[in-house]
Amino acid sequence: MFIISSNHMLRKAQAEQYAVPAFNIHNLETMQVIVETAAELRSPVILAGTPGTYNYAGTTNIVAIANALAKQHNIPLALHLDHHESYDDITNKINAGIRSVMIDGSHEAFSENIAIVKQVVDYAHRFDVSVEAELGRLGGVEDDLIVDSKDALYTNPKQAAEFVEKTGIDSLAIAIGTAHGLYKSEPKLDFERLSQIRSAVDIPLVLHGASGLLERDVQECIKRGICKVNVATELKIAFADALKQYFIENPHANDPRYYMQPAKAAMKEIVQKIIATCGSADKL
Ligand SMILES: [Zn+2]
Repeated sequence: MFIISSNHMLRKAQAEQYAVPAFNIHNLETMQVIVETAAELRSPVILAGTPGTYNYAGTTNIVAIANALAKQHNIPLALHLDHHESYDDITNKINAGIRSVMIDGSHEAFSENIAIVKQVVDYAHRFDVSVEAELGRLGGVEDDLIVDSKDALYTNPKQAAEFVEKTGIDSLAIAIGTAHGLYKSEPKLDFERLSQIRSAVDIPLVLHGASGLLERDVQECIKRGICKVNVATELKIAFADALKQYFIENPHANDPRYYMQPAKAAMKEIVQKIIATCGSADKL
């Protein structure tokens, strides 16, 4: 099997104190860049897509491309459902070959969050599928979801322990001051809270909203127990900016085999940078 759950990758990262990068993908080109770069650097990697991405590209298409790329580079790949909220949607995608899921019930009340996550865990674990869930709220934008940063709620360490115990999840996404999208001002991360959560639960911890964070802040998070770092916006910006620049310089260009190249190269640099920040090179 080339498409695997995130379990082995994240446990190894937890034991050896680095983080596995999870990159959001959208199409063939972004998947090619990420898998090729991870394979070159011998880094474990997670390809992640929101419901919007799977709708756009087609779940069976994404699964087929991920399988083909993993075989071509001879590396195991985790293909992940990022911020999925519907039980039916998740189980359908597990049936289509996905082996790593996030069920995001973080907008629900605590007991409701536990109930929906537990339901997904019960289904997923029968198929050896890993489950990530989120406790606390991030600021910013993820797909259609907008959270006012003032109302964003940080993860409570005691609740985290209860949440992990009652749901049986494999990894926990926490809120310690990061936000989705780009930061308008420098975020102040609550490192002390992260350490408290780390000592309260023993499963891998996940950092969402890493685009635009300082490298030293991400590395401090990894030191304190983060095992998976999610990056989406930074990749999109690098890709789009290079594409725009190419069309400014070549207004009559119309061949994707040419105009996609600088966009892919720009995205590759970000993937290399994030792998270096995560310390995941040569950890395959
Ligand atoms: Zn996220």
